Amino acid sequence: MAEDGLAKFSLRQNVDLMVERAFSVLELDEGLANAIRACQAVIQLTFPVEIKGKVEVFSGWRAVHSTHRLPVKGGIRFAPIVDQDEVEGLASLMTYKCAIVDVPFGGSKGGLKIDPRNYTREEMQRITRRFARELASRGFLSPALNVPAPDVGTGQREMAWIADTYKQLFPEDINYQACVTGKPVHHGGIRGRVEATGRGVQYGIHEFFRHGADVKEAGLNPGLGGQRVVVQGFGNVGFHAAKFLSEEDEAKIIAIVERDGFLFHEDGINVAQAREYLTANDSLRGYPDAEFCEDRDLGLEIDCDILIPAALEGVIHSENADRIKARLIVEAANGPITFEADEILKKKGVAVLPDSLMNAGGVVVSYFEWIRNLSHIRFGRIERRFDEMRGQHIISALESMTNNKVPDWMRSEIIRGADELDLVRSGLDDTMRLAYNEIREQKLTHDAVTDLRTAAYVIAVRKISRSYLDLGVY
Ligand code: GLU
Repeated sequence: MAEDGLAKFSLRQNVDLMVERAFSVLELDEGLANAIRACQAVIQLTFPVEIKGKVEVFSGWRAVHSTHRLPVKGGIRFAPIVDQDEVEGLASLMTYKCAIVDVPFGGSKGGLKIDPRNYTREEMQRITRRFARELASRGFLSPALNVPAPDVGTGQREMAWIADTYKQLFPEDINYQACVTGKPVHHGGIRGRVEATGRGVQYGIHEFFRHGADVKEAGLNPGLGGQRVVVQGFGNVGFHAAKFLSEEDEAKIIAIVERDGFLFHEDGINVAQAREYLTANDSLRGYPDAEFCEDRDLGLEIDCDILIPAALEGVIHSENADRIKARLIVEAANGPITFEADEILKKKGVAVLPDSLMNAGGVVVSYFEWIRNLSHIRFGRIERRFDEMRGQHIISALESMTNNKVPDWMRSEIIRGADELDLVRSGLDDTMRLAYNEIREQKLTHDAVTDLRTAAYVIAVRKISRSYLDLGVY
């Protein structure tokens, strides 16, 4: 669903062309490369639902790219222009993404061709439940085999309906809650999942800025504070990334690009206020504290330090890549840069933090949610008070040995036991840091690897091929 229709290659071809670079760096056997590239299974479902007294027929897909690990994992998107090729391409991206961040899942993706804005909540519920039933009855929805999650056009609400449908079909499955992630917290979800992809983007950028040499090579000044950021797409991912970067890191969000134009203010836009405005008005047009321009394409070409495409694939393509002025592009969406554009940006010396790492925050926290569901207990429940007590003892020991009182702020830091959100954030931060460093190291130590995307794919392909070779191909 390349937004502009300008892309020469489909999403799937774009992913394959990019991964091809890693195959050649690794001099991978052609047969093995073909096995890794192939999408192992895809199901197309066509089903009727009665809407306002009339029967409507809906089409959806679920693609399974690689089962070298089970379950396979990946979101379900609800959008008017989903198709099989896109779903297959996104499924393959999930395989590589999971391998890069060491999440033990294969890759999958689903899509339903629908514009949710045209249906009521009750209609969406019936359509979603029917889709879930079709998937479950064919083994494409299961805690052990295939675990969907939110994506474009879906969220907690749809995941709760999917989980409940599975539970009704398989009430004897004690792990029914783990059949889908991204659920509301009171239905087995995990704290921190909604904002996880945006958080992952922030943690990934933090790690990039910890490496002075990388920042310098990109032509940026050190430190994230004051950097001029443009965010394209103000949905869940774009909003959270922009919010955290502006509120916690003091970066300046100078533009927010949406479907019908973009907002601009050189001193920075108040992200929370802009989001409230968007929710109330379904557009950023007319927002009082910034200028609105109707030409959304120009938004991507604004002179800025960091550009964060956070919506759909293919928005940076061969026609506009040359006009991009950002020094660093952070791919918060799946596949926002086409293969051709990637080549152009490389020649221009624009640094790119690739999607396969930068938008992995969602699936990382989904992994935590799946573990929580399988273990049937909230993280931190057992040890939190014990940790607090131990902190208390340490403070008492310090005070009695030094005859000094520990200041209150230090006391509360030391005695605080970690709750679920602390642990989720800690796990996500650790994952993003480790993966960035592994990718960076790969780029530095291999002459044939000149960019982080290829470095990431080299790591992913090495892990996946090892798993194929260890087990043999049967
Ligand atoms: N839809 C998200 C993605 O593209 C999340 C997938 C998941 O949590 O399984 O990565």
